Amino acid sequence: MNPAEEAASILKDLGVLPEGDLASFSPIDGSEIGRVRVGDASAAAGRAQDAFLEWRIIPAPRRGELVRLLGEELRAAKQPLARLVTLESGKIVQEGLGEVQEMIDICDFAVGLSRQLYGLTIASERPNHRMMEQWHSLGPVLVISAFNFPVAVWAWNAALALVCGNPVVWKPSEKTPLTAEAVMALMRRALERFGDAPEGLVQLVQGGRDIGEALVDDPRMALVSATGSTAMGRAVGPRVAQRFGRALLELGGNNAMIVCPSADLRLAERAILFSAAGTAGQRCTTLRRLIVHESIADRLVDRLRQLFANVKIGDPRDPDTLVGPLIDESAVRNMQRVLGEGLDRVEGIVGGFYARPALVEVDAQDGSVLQETFAPILYILRYRDFDDALALNNSVVQGLSSAIFTNNLREAERFLSAAGSDCGIANVNIGPSGAEIGGAFGGEKETGGGRESGSDSWRAYMRRQTNTVNYGTDLPLAQGIRFDVAP
Ligand code: NAD
Repeated sequence: MNPAEEAASILKDLGVLPEGDLASFSPIDGSEIGRVRVGDASAAAGRAQDAFLEWRIIPAPRRGELVRLLGEELRAAKQPLARLVTLESGKIVQEGLGEVQEMIDICDFAVGLSRQLYGLTIASERPNHRMMEQWHSLGPVLVISAFNFPVAVWAWNAALALVCGNPVVWKPSEKTPLTAEAVMALMRRALERFGDAPEGLVQLVQGGRDIGEALVDDPRMALVSATGSTAMGRAVGPRVAQRFGRALLELGGNNAMIVCPSADLRLAERAILFSAAGTAGQRCTTLRRLIVHESIADRLVDRLRQLFANVKIGDPRDPDTLVGPLIDESAVRNMQRVLGEGLDRVEGIVGGFYARPALVEVDAQDGSVLQETFAPILYILRYRDFDDALALNNSVVQGLSSAIFTNNLREAERFLSAAGSDCGIANVNIGPSGAEIGGAFGGEKETGGGRESGSDSWRAYMRRQTNTVNYGTDLPLAQGIRFDVAP
């Protein structure tokens, strides 16, 4: 079956009618694989606001039940949904499956969380007073997602938002609208089984930048969780701030790995190949800068050249393929802009966007090395002094992920210390990509500062309220202030 036939068959099984004005193309062969209808931003915001008034008073563990049911639907449909991710985003089979597994994992996490939205009790300085902190539902959450994680990013946000008592409005990438329709079909099944969820609790609004902007500007969207390029964040952040809304920004990365003299190079080379060439270099956490100690650089670079030359590139549906296509022709052009004649365009499947991952040795960190070219290009820099390596790691405007390969405890601990990596993610002896959902995910500087997924990221989806209760018969003021009125 060609990508269009396969996509049509998966969508039909899910009860999705692929028709409308917005076309979706498969990067496998460049063919159109389906269409969707462009949504109505204002109507969706209105429905979400109405749903909020009902959903916020449903007990959180009951809200968790909806997310549990979603997790069941995702488990049952893991294979076809992963297949659709492959067809629409070009991810290899293993990575498509991994992406859906990540959705299942965050559902499990959120179900547990629905019984753990803890506040604090705080010692009051006043007699017969009690202080506490509560977490209340925030309001409708707008999720804007990027093409490269077409379904998982929605799940990271939606699972937490729903247990926290918030409706969800999803504006997916215009490059991956079909996977979003498929997820919504599974969500509808979960909602049906749940029974009494308010209408408009979970909505999908398809469209491009203009629809995204209309939703971003809508004051009914209490939280805008936007994942995409730094350019997108630069536009979205100020617009949300303008109306005093809350923004959670997950933007571009320019991730480095330091390889020290004591590193286990067998592990390092595998980690480098996966994190630099995997997903065709189209992860926010993709390894883009390799900072290698000069004493081991020749050996490591030789080995990487062999691995990059032999990595299997082609149809992502073939289980042996490790590198699938780039998303579209403009992604290949961006890669060419950096590599020029050095771009090795691979035949792959006619009409598709295949290129061999590239290694580029550079003397200094400037020009395109400082930018995130969303393609498999790995720059290699050599270092002599560990402090210089750390400085190189941090001397970019992005701050998402980072890694060090070393068996030297001092180097590892310095990398993780306050004076070490300035990124939101810093790993030892694993690559910078492929995070688990249990930790908070996100980065500093121009990566946007947001955190989503695990740990206490749920707090971004709730409003904090501090309560002081006086159960005495006096009215003492804080800080001992006296403000007596005549009897
Ligand atoms: P993109 O910025 O082109 O688009 C992302 C989404 O934002 C799309 O849904 C798009 O329609 C929407 N959008 C764009 N401009 C907008 C605006 N002004 N107002 C409202 N919505 C707008 O990104 P992309 O090409 O789809 O994805 C690749 C980028 O995403 C890379 O930079 C990558 O690093 C980043 N990314 C970051 C993370 C993270 O968690 N930090 C995760 C995945 C991808």
